Amino acid sequence: CGIVGYIGSRSAQQVLLSGLAKLEYRGYDSAGVAIMDGPAALGGAIQVRKKAGKLANLSGELLAAPLTGTLGIGHTRWATHGLPNDTNAHPHATEDGRLVIIHNGIIENYLTLKEGLTARGHVFLSQTDSEVLAHLIEEKYDLVSGNLYEAVRQALGEVRGAYGIVVTHQDHREIVAARTVSPLVMGVGEGEMFLASDVPALLPYTRQMVFLHDGDMVVLSDDGFRVTDLAGNSVARTIEQIDWDA
Ligand code: GLU
Repeated sequence: CGIVGYIGSRSAQQVLLSGLAKLEYRGYDSAGVAIMDGPAALGGAIQVRKKAGKLANLSGELLAAPLTGTLGIGHTRWATHGLPNDTNAHPHATEDGRLVIIHNGIIENYLTLKEGLTARGHVFLSQTDSEVLAHLIEEKYDLVSGNLYEAVRQALGEVRGAYGIVVTHQDHREIVAARTVSPLVMGVGEGEMFLASDVPALLPYTRQMVFLHDGDMVVLSDDGFRVTDLAGNSVARTIEQIDWDA
């Protein structure tokens, strides 16, 4: 339902919680974050916290035991597949915890994908349609020698449905995102980049925004972004100045 992503030099926890709070009007049943802690050049360890219920349940836990790190992704979930409990909340991680994903929307062919992945040894922890994305991207990741963007691109080639997804992997200081049907907007800062499912989450931080189109993929790093289509061709997207009041 609501998505926020951040890479830069601020506390990711703070940006994610403030952004998710701005998206509360959309309604949700659970919330979660994944934050990467580690030296910028080397990536780092990814910590996931997620809780059923109000954002306050999650933020209370995070304020009591903060996650440090300046790269993170956060979600408020509106369950479509699987009960609204802690396990089904996003982000979803691979078994080794190295890769995490957040997904808005519905993966229509998730049962077929899940059968194939299970047969190839993947163990699923949740009842969501979304979790197939984590395992599918993990599988591609090994085939493309650890190119996260390319792994996400190839995985999306096998997926049918609506998605806004954000992905991060502990070996890369970057966030890879893509959208089809579900909205995503990118915020462009100075030495920092933001991502959200809707503008209000970003207004306190930047007015420079890029509205991603259907079928866009983007790679965010500390100092910029690169947009392509799902075939891997570069596409130009203009940065717009947003004048709304926060
Ligand atoms: N279909 C996914 C789920 O049920 C994503 C829901 C959403 O868009 O929040 O977990």
